[in-house]
Amino acid sequence: MSPGTSTDSVAVRVPGKVNLELLVGAQREDGYHEVSTVYQAVSVYDRVTVRPAERWSVSVTGPYADRVPTGDSNLALVAAKTLGRRRPRHGRSSPVHVEIDKTIPVAGGMAGGSANAAAALVACRELWQLDHVDNELLDQIASGLGSDVTFLLHGGTAIGSGRGEQVTPVLGRGELHWVLWVGEGLELSTPEVYAECDRLREAAGETPPAPEPSSELLTALRRMDAADVAAALHNDLQAAAVSLRPELAGVIEAGTELGALGAMVSGSGPTVAFLAGSQTEAIDLSVGLAANGPVGDIVRAIGPVPGAQVVQHLRTP
Ligand code: ATP
Repeated sequence: MSPGTSTDSVAVRVPGKVNLELLVGAQREDGYHEVSTVYQAVSVYDRVTVRPAERWSVSVTGPYADRVPTGDSNLALVAAKTLGRRRPRHGRSSPVHVEIDKTIPVAGGMAGGSANAAAALVACRELWQLDHVDNELLDQIASGLGSDVTFLLHGGTAIGSGRGEQVTPVLGRGELHWVLWVGEGLELSTPEVYAECDRLREAAGETPPAPEPSSELLTALRRMDAADVAAALHNDLQAAAVSLRPELAGVIEAGTELGALGAMVSGSGPTVAFLAGSQTEAIDLSVGLAANGPVGDIVRAIGPVPGAQVVQHLRTP
């Protein structure tokens, strides 16, 4: 950003995520659960564009648009307003219109709302030329907006601790090939899945240990060895998601029979992420699932990919 220039619209591309490991500890006093997670950003993207407007507003296009709120509860709008308060001399009076082209499944455990919030932060910082908001301050603002927002500013592969908002990058070489199964009408709310996890644990008399990332997964990720990563995939919320949506058990079984190296519910579900051994195996698996698997959208993706990035500045003369 050079001083004195002004941009009239800024577009940012932001990925969704899968959790390669999600360990859920006890519920904290603030109501959140302590978690240890390993996130990976994958190549399923939303595009978020911001431009100055008379009043704060949001519009959504794309295959999942009808499931996204277009009022004040939209997380991208919340993020833009929050950053707007950091605008010197302007206070709250700097409205923008936020346009979201949505491809990340909604309420699918891929953090689409958090991704849009991260993208809105990056886009508005650029639009308003907030040079005093460095990456560290942006991380801080992001962590106040939601558990996954900070990670989606960065992308890649990372460990998330606390309630997921404390992010430490995991360095590794290579890429993983994912096939995502997205079921229609199975949306799960994250609080509902955590509550079911607590209920199942209580019924079984289980007390969760303090969550910590497993060394098996971190070692496998250093080399991005698909077979070793597959063996280390784990999600403590999977049993709860399957309890609420029993059809997910059949989805996991179908992908495994069709040759996936590993399978798991992503985050709080219901998206199911299958890990394939190569690009060719991912293509075979997606064709097999589309032809013979349970009804749902099948999306191929690679990971890791970078987080929210400006892809276009447009200035109107
Ligand atoms: P997570 O994995 O972070 O729990 P998720 O992927 O399961 O999230 P989201 O796609 O983030 O779920 O959507 C959760 C809810 O957030 C939706 O039901 C929707 O009502 C609301 N929401 C608010 N803003 C957005 C947005 N910009 N995009 C998607 N959902 C949004």
